[in-house]
Amino acid sequence: MTSSSALAPVPNLIGGEWLTSSATQNIPVFNPSRGEIIAQTPLCDAATVNDAVSAAHAAFPAWADTPPTERARVFFRFKMLLEDHFEELAQSVTREHGKTVSEARGDVRRGIEMVEFACGIPSLLMGEILPNVARGIDCDAVRQPLGVCAGITPFNFPAMVPLWMYPVALVCGNTFVLKPSEKVPLTAIRIAELLLQAGLPPGVFNLVHGGREAVDALLIHPKVRAVSFVGSTLIARYIYETGTKNGKRVQSNGGAKNYVVVMPDADIDHTVRGVVEAAFGCAGERCMAGSTAVVVGDASKRFLPSLIDAARAIRVGPTDTADQPGMGPVITRQHADRIGELIEHGTREGATVAADGRGVKIAGAPHGFFVGATILDHVQSGTMVHHEEIFGPVLNVMRFGDLDAAIDLANASAYGNGASIFTRSGKAAREFKHRVKAGMVGINIGVPASMAWFPFNGWDDSFFGDLHMQGREGVQFFTQLKVTTTRWFNDNEGTIWADR
Ligand code: NAD
Repeated sequence: MTSSSALAPVPNLIGGEWLTSSATQNIPVFNPSRGEIIAQTPLCDAATVNDAVSAAHAAFPAWADTPPTERARVFFRFKMLLEDHFEELAQSVTREHGKTVSEARGDVRRGIEMVEFACGIPSLLMGEILPNVARGIDCDAVRQPLGVCAGITPFNFPAMVPLWMYPVALVCGNTFVLKPSEKVPLTAIRIAELLLQAGLPPGVFNLVHGGREAVDALLIHPKVRAVSFVGSTLIARYIYETGTKNGKRVQSNGGAKNYVVVMPDADIDHTVRGVVEAAFGCAGERCMAGSTAVVVGDASKRFLPSLIDAARAIRVGPTDTADQPGMGPVITRQHADRIGELIEHGTREGATVAADGRGVKIAGAPHGFFVGATILDHVQSGTMVHHEEIFGPVLNVMRFGDLDAAIDLANASAYGNGASIFTRSGKAAREFKHRVKAGMVGINIGVPASMAWFPFNGWDDSFFGDLHMQGREGVQFFTQLKVTTTRWFNDNEGTIWADR
């Protein structure tokens, strides 16, 4: 989409300079609470991407040679700057994404935790040694950086998701090119300014805006060694296949459809709070959203009336005001319309609308992209709303007779990001944890997104690759092992130690 708005396109960061793009096409960035254009994102071409990769490539030798402790020190300063600017960054997320301020604070906080993790990476870079693998011969393995790494990120966590990638890559000694979501470029830019202020040398981190052309240029560029991607499954699979075909390491997180099982013995108040937060937090625009409540046995009688009341009570509205609503808008008008169409489709497939968020009108924000909290009850297996990721404030409800049937349902999903159970029974929780086919499991917790020190651990169509983001796996992804076998000769006698 090209806009006639007079706003200048947001700049790229290449080789330490903020440069205006020469792109001929821009796309508008909205404040979703108001439907107003607040910025323009340039759709950069392959030549601009090449400039950024070349700058990263030129900066690599000196940065890789910088002691890990010094690299980490930049990130200690970065962490302090992120804390100093915490509220400003949360406001930026709210403005371009539409999350409530409290949700935006969560986005920034989880991003800062990645920086805290990255500050400790030097200890994870320590190698291993086995002396005397044969007489007089020692063997050691050390971790070395890869070179230029690239990151491509989605719209839904403007602060956190880019920070899953480059703090780890950079402390490991790589250089980086980030292509943030074209829908939310502003927070990524502000955070990059703080990273430069923390003392990162020019060219070590670069930022280029764009869409498919920019992404393809990164995927085929011979100097890019590794690609980290987060986004929808269709694109995640494409990134993995294209990147690996071009010889790159790829970690590629896709979409999801997460099940929340409610057992008959679950604590009702706690469960309602947990399921409401899982389904409607961040307006459902989370890869860890609880999108289907699987209600077991007579949990439906105890749990559903309170759940429906709680969903209907969520106040939707603009998030860029002091009077914060319970839920903000979704990202674009098109996305709001698509969510509405999927709800309609669900009703044609036989679901009943127990809470209806269609057609909400907000006084004072008539152009915002709002959808209210929606519950589709009696959703049937195999229907479109059952398997399609809606990525909005829509919760499916399905009813089953026992835990086995609930686990079988979750395990039939093509995705494998998260799954949760609410119960008072240790036996049921243990059974669920062991058998459910998902990489992140919650027990009496609705959104079991793992923290920085653990891998963000999608399975199946929610992840393509071998090494996940976050934690030790992140460090392994951004480094390669070098194994050295050493034998020293005796200078005076010309014989080797092993011969003596
Ligand atoms: P998206 O796939 O539309 O876009 C993600 C990135 O890919 C953006 O930078 C975009 O510019 C780029 N892109 C889009 N189309 C492309 C194409 N045809 N070729 C190359 N690049 C392309 O995703 P989104 O709408 O921004 O984000 C929402 C999705 O992200 C949801 O599916 C959600 O589940 C997923 N997500 C997953 C995780 C996870 O860790 N598994 C985390 C957050 C979001």
